[in-house]
Amino acid sequence: MAGSRSQGKSFTAQAFGAVLDASPDALLALAPDGTVTMANAAAERLFGASREELTGRNHQVLLAEGFRDEVDQLFQQLLAQPGKHPQPREVYGVHSSGTEFPAEVAASLIPALSVTSRGGSLAAPQLLLSVRSTSHRKSADEDLREAMSLLAATLESTADGILVMSAEGRVAGFNDQFLRMWGIPPELLDGDSEEPIMRLVVAQVADPVAFMGRVNELEDNPAAESHDVVDFKDGRTFERYSRPQRVGDNIVGRVWSFRDVTPRRKAQEQAHQAMLDLAAQAEKLRTMAFQDPLTGLANRAVFNDGLVDALTEPRLKAVDVLLLDLDDFKEVNDILGHQAGDDMLIEVARRLRGCVPTADVVARLGGDEFVVLLTACPDPDAIAACIVRCLHVPVTINGTVLRPSLSLGLASLGQESVGASELLRHADIAMYAAKAAGKNRFLRFHPDMMAALVQRTDMESGLQLAVARGEISVDFQPIVSHRMGQVVKFEALARWDRGGERVPPSVFIPLAERTGLISEIGAEVMALGMVQLASWLSGDPSRSLSVNVSGVQLQEPDFAEQVLRLAEASGVAPYQLVLEVTESVFFDADCSLIKQLSTLRDAGARVALDDFGTGYSSLGRLQDLPVDTVKIDKTFVSMVRTGAERLPILSSMINMAHSLGLTVTAEGVETAAQADYLVALECDSLQGYLFSLPEPGERLEYALHHAEEALNALKAR
Ligand code: C2E
Ligand code: CA
Ligand code: CA
Repeated sequence: MAGSRSQGKSFTAQAFGAVLDASPDALLALAPDGTVTMANAAAERLFGASREELTGRNHQVLLAEGFRDEVDQLFQQLLAQPGKHPQPREVYGVHSSGTEFPAEVAASLIPALSVTSRGGSLAAPQLLLSVRSTSHRKSADEDLREAMSLLAATLESTADGILVMSAEGRVAGFNDQFLRMWGIPPELLDGDSEEPIMRLVVAQVADPVAFMGRVNELEDNPAAESHDVVDFKDGRTFERYSRPQRVGDNIVGRVWSFRDVTPRRKAQEQAHQAMLDLAAQAEKLRTMAFQDPLTGLANRAVFNDGLVDALTEPRLKAVDVLLLDLDDFKEVNDILGHQAGDDMLIEVARRLRGCVPTADVVARLGGDEFVVLLTACPDPDAIAACIVRCLHVPVTINGTVLRPSLSLGLASLGQESVGASELLRHADIAMYAAKAAGKNRFLRFHPDMMAALVQRTDMESGLQLAVARGEISVDFQPIVSHRMGQVVKFEALARWDRGGERVPPSVFIPLAERTGLISEIGAEVMALGMVQLASWLSGDPSRSLSVNVSGVQLQEPDFAEQVLRLAEASGVAPYQLVLEVTESVFFDADCSLIKQLSTLRDAGARVALDDFGTGYSSLGRLQDLPVDTVKIDKTFVSMVRTGAERLPILSSMINMAHSLGLTVTAEGVETAAQADYLVALECDSLQGYLFSLPEPGERLEYALHHAEEALNALKAR
């Protein structure tokens, strides 16, 4: 420093010129008339002219039009107040090429001197101009302006609503979209306070407390950023972004940006709902595949899988299958209707589930067949007994009290390993045995039952050949009229002698009905009956022959025709025929069945309702049925023991039938007391061992004789 100062003292005029030329600003000296008297190297560069060209010219040629007086004004200012330094002026200069450029001009006075550095003198003060191009600054300004207009255009064209709040809590800026989205009248923003705006905003949001909580939280944390969702009372949803507004390192306010995402939200919600619906549907389909729709129990597929799994699980020592089938369920369905049948199945399923809460599977296999799978159960027999007992509790269905009863077969995994299908078959055989043993019970599978099964299939094949082999015969049982004192009718009863052994009708008739063989057997009985009784019938037109007819036969479209043909062939008048049917044939009676009966009745034949009073039917139904006679079942007759008891059921049955114009026959009359009792109730006809057992055709005379003797004995009492 000290060195440089000592050099400064020795500045020569030449050194001074070098200093001027080193100046980065253009320097010009002007004479009072405005003529350029001096120019440095920077001036040469700025104006694109040599020193020689510049000196001697009026400075105004170096200024653009509109700026030519600026320098003169500076000169005047300086002359008027020499101590004051005026502000630099913004002007446009002109390059020798003719292009204009922005520049800043500062000026100061060079006082008058007697001796110049070059040795000359200055008679008057001159003006020193320092000219600096501001092209670089201008372009930055323009960029800013452009950026600002771009920003404004962007803000107004964006779908987001934007609000800028100053750190002092004033509204510093907003776009129109913000006003539209929040429904804010623009004049509200001109006010000093943000209060009314806030009130308007808060009134619209669904959760004002949470909304304000967030606003206050951000007020306390000016540097924080946030992003959340605002729900509106009117169902709209906005996304809310907030970030601090910074200038340099300072936070001067906060920018709020709101985006209406209602349509997106709605679409998302709809998509979500659609997903839920689909999932629910899939779930429904899934359960349908595994569930019995009526009872909600598992279905056969689930049971089969469960059983296979249990049998392949080596650690499981106990696997039990309980197969059960409702007794006489068909009658519930037929008599009370399918709805009642469904209700009964639902109730049975409910009770079953209650009996075996720990069962592996409780399934409905179809119809009235259910199955329970137990694994590791210590006492399956106790469970089976419990099921039979629990289900036999009365239930009211459709106003009728029913006692569901079932037959249950139990099969268990023993020492010898068996397959799933074999175990189920064993349970089925045991179940069948339980039915055969009288129903409403359970039986555990025993290998001997296989023999019974073999027997059953053997019987079926035997029955198939019975008619052809002449093994079917007919017994006749007399029916007497007490009033007339004679036998008025014979009932034909089928007999099957198989290899010298008589098979009871209670065994082969149900089998014949199940297999359809009853049509052939029934026709045989009818033919044999007519032929064997023809001569007795011809003795008196009031005599008749009663034949049992099963529902299966009535389904045949030519049944009536067949009967009438047989009658004609054997010389029996149709009015001497009685067809005995049970109530059940009418349960799902179709037109064809009614037509068969009508044809026969039109021809003079009569219809008797067999086993009346059993089953689920009521007396009230009687008047709707196309029948002429009712046969009171022997269970009612057997109620008469001493003859002294009061049995209103018997009297009302007889009265009811009579009031409908029907005749009444009592079955199973075994004692004189029973006969007396029934006669007193004006029962029209009596049938039973008291008068005669069913006898073969050859013993017809014997049966007649026996019956008449019994009648006489009664009269003598
Ligand atoms: P059902 O029509 O009720 O026949 C009367 C049954 O009662 C006969 O049994 C008869 O032997 C028996 N019985 C008669 N009097 C008495 C008595 O005083 N006490 C007792 N305890 N029983 C008596 P059966 O012959 O064994 O026939 C049984 C059932 O087989 C018949 O009952 C009938 O429903 C059916 N059935 C017999 N033959 C035929 C037939 O040809 N066709 C059809 N569809 N069913 C037949
Ligand atoms: Ca009968
Ligand atoms: Ca009967």
